[in-house]
Amino acid sequence: MTDRNIPITDLRYPVRVPVVPDSARPVGGPLRDAHGRLLHDLRISVTDRCNFRCTYCMPKSVFDKSYRFLPHDSLLSFEEITRTAKVFAALGVEKLRLTGGEPLLRKDVEQLVAMLAAVRTPQGAPLDLTLTTNASILARKAQALRDAGLRRVTVSLDALDDKVFRAMNDVDFPVADVLAGIDAATRVGLAPLKINVVVKRGVNDEQVVPLARYFRGSGHIVRFIEFMDVGASNGWRMDDVLPSAEVVRRISEHFPLVAAHANYPGEVAQRWRYADGDGEIGVISSVTQPFCADCTRARLSTEGRIYTCLFATTGHDLRALLRGSYDDDQIAAAVAQIWSTREDRYSELRSDATTGLRRIEMSYIGG
Ligand code: SAM
Ligand code: SF4
Ligand code: SF4
Repeated sequence: MTDRNIPITDLRYPVRVPVVPDSARPVGGPLRDAHGRLLHDLRISVTDRCNFRCTYCMPKSVFDKSYRFLPHDSLLSFEEITRTAKVFAALGVEKLRLTGGEPLLRKDVEQLVAMLAAVRTPQGAPLDLTLTTNASILARKAQALRDAGLRRVTVSLDALDDKVFRAMNDVDFPVADVLAGIDAATRVGLAPLKINVVVKRGVNDEQVVPLARYFRGSGHIVRFIEFMDVGASNGWRMDDVLPSAEVVRRISEHFPLVAAHANYPGEVAQRWRYADGDGEIGVISSVTQPFCADCTRARLSTEGRIYTCLFATTGHDLRALLRGSYDDDQIAAAVAQIWSTREDRYSELRSDATTGLRRIEMSYIGG
């Protein structure tokens, strides 16, 4: 046993070096955590930087000129990310999502997409590869991403009203450019898109119905997300959360909705179909209806730390193994060990005591 399981405190975030078991065994049978949850998804953060300053994610008061983003040499290289994806695929991961920060800001990200598109499950199937973006440069990048093998894309768009949108991204970015990105992605075949909307009461909740109306019948699926207490800087208060039940009620007043079944076990969004058959919406209710019991997601931070929960306070330094003398089976065994002891269920335990914790920022850990 390589016993280096000693918490190290880096300047910002505690991290521990994973234990590499003596017998490097790729797991036999499905890998389950302490609550019986499978490892099915890996979210990969490719940069902690962003050109937006969404008030709920990277508020300007914290992410200002003096903020220390990660230095370039601490980032995982494309080769290291791809190797990690292969290890996770061997352990049962079937879905990869590139995120950040803003993933399209990572130089040559389409090369990484091409490398990840070539990763296969043990049964020889390609992984479900997708990316979440603010779409600020999607119009320019959509074709290259599609050519590289990207299959789908999720775009974040919090308002159709230009004034509201500019205030939420807080860098005066126009809504028209995001809509142009959505159109470009649709044209090159990345559709149907998912459109993520973080709803903040009193800020953009009046945009819920206009957004539903705009995308109804387009084939794209708008997903309304409850404002979450991620990180330690967005000033989250329960009063700012518009419960998903209220989102559904407001849309139903204009366009009646019918509950639909999940596409697969563990689907994060609850699906609602328009009764007239004109498409569907989703709601992600991590605050009012936590879904930890079905959470099959691991996250890989930009500098190669594994997090087993969006609200984790400690990461596992996979980069130390990737840059050490370990082979893939040893790294797989270390990851299996991390996953099999996972107990996270933060959203189910959320309370006044937990909201005060110093957590990892979403732009670092990957949304
Ligand atoms: N920059 C990309 C984007 O915005 O699409 C990818 C990274 S972003 C962190 C991923 C997703 O997290 C976005 O859809 C964003 O709206 C969501 N998000 C960020 N902060 C959030 C919060 N406090 N509550 C709920 N969702 C949040
Ligand atoms: Fe950037 Fe996305 Fe966070 Fe907005 S939500 S600040 S676009 S990382
Ligand atoms: Fe998964 Fe953690 Fe979110 Fe629960 S709080 S759903 S365990 S990421």
